[in-house]
Amino acid sequence: MERERTIAKPVSVSGIGLHSGAKTFLTLKPAPPGSGITFFRPDLDPSLPIPARIDYVGDNRFATTLRRGEAEVATVEHLLAAVYSLEVDNLEAWLEGPEVPSGDGSAQIFVDLITAAGLKVQERDRSIFSIPYPLEAVNPEARITAGPEPGNGLSLEFRIAYPRLQVPEQTFHLRLSPELFRREIASARTYGFLEDLSGLKAEGKGKGGSLENAILISDGKVVNPEGLRFPEELVRHKILDLIGDLALLGRRVSGRVAAQYSGHCLNHQLVREISKIMK
Ligand SMILES: [Zn+2]
Repeated sequence: MERERTIAKPVSVSGIGLHSGAKTFLTLKPAPPGSGITFFRPDLDPSLPIPARIDYVGDNRFATTLRRGEAEVATVEHLLAAVYSLEVDNLEAWLEGPEVPSGDGSAQIFVDLITAAGLKVQERDRSIFSIPYPLEAVNPEARITAGPEPGNGLSLEFRIAYPRLQVPEQTFHLRLSPELFRREIASARTYGFLEDLSGLKAEGKGKGGSLENAILISDGKVVNPEGLRFPEELVRHKILDLIGDLALLGRRVSGRVAAQYSGHCLNHQLVREISKIMK
C-alpha cells in the first residue's frame, strides 16, 4: 500500500495574478495526514479554510476559482496540477492576494517550489479511487469522458483545434507519472488569442497577462519572440489544466480520461459526476 505524502518544509513564492494583475504571495506548508489540499487567505478577516474540492468551485469561465463565503482564490489549476502530479496528498496553500501567482503561465514554478521543499511520507495509507464504469460530460462543442483502465494510474488524452483561429488539430496523451509530468507537461504555458483579448478584457480578466506568462496567438501565428516550447504546447497545457481540475476530486484516481475541446466548465461537470459515485 502506498502512503500519503506532504511537503517536508514550508516554501514561498511571489508574483502577479494572470487575471487580476494583483501582486500575490504564496506559501505552501506541510499538512496532517488525511487533510487534503486546503487554501487559506491570511490577508482576509475572517479567514476560513477553503478546501480544494469541487464543492467550492466558483467562477470557472477562464480559470478555476475556489470560493467560500466572500473569500476567493483564483487560478488554482496550475498549482493543483503540480501538487497532484508530484503526488502530494496533503498541503496548506496560504495565499496573500486574490489569485495564485502566474509564474511563466505554466506549472513550472510550482514544480520548482515543491522540489525545493522535498516530500515527506506520512503515516496513513493513500486511498485511490478506480473509475468503475464510463461517465461523460458533453455540450454542443465539446466532450469529456472517463472510464476504467487496466492497471493503476491515470491515462489522459486531449484533442483540440481552433479552425476559426487557424490553429490545426493537436492531440496529446500520456499515462501520468511525476517524471512524465515534469518532462512533458509542467512547462507548457497557458495561451490566448489576440482575436479574443477584447472580450477577455471586457470581463475584467487577463489584466496580469503578458508575453512573460502566456502564449499569444494572432492569425494562427505565435506572437512570442521565443516561440513555442513544444510543437503541441497548447494541447499539453490543456492536459495540465485537466489534471488541475481532476485534483478537485480530493483523492487520487485511477482510470482513463479523454477530452475533446473541453474547458474548465465541462471538466468540472465530469469531476462532479465522478465525485457523486465516490461517495
Ligand atoms: Zn491553464
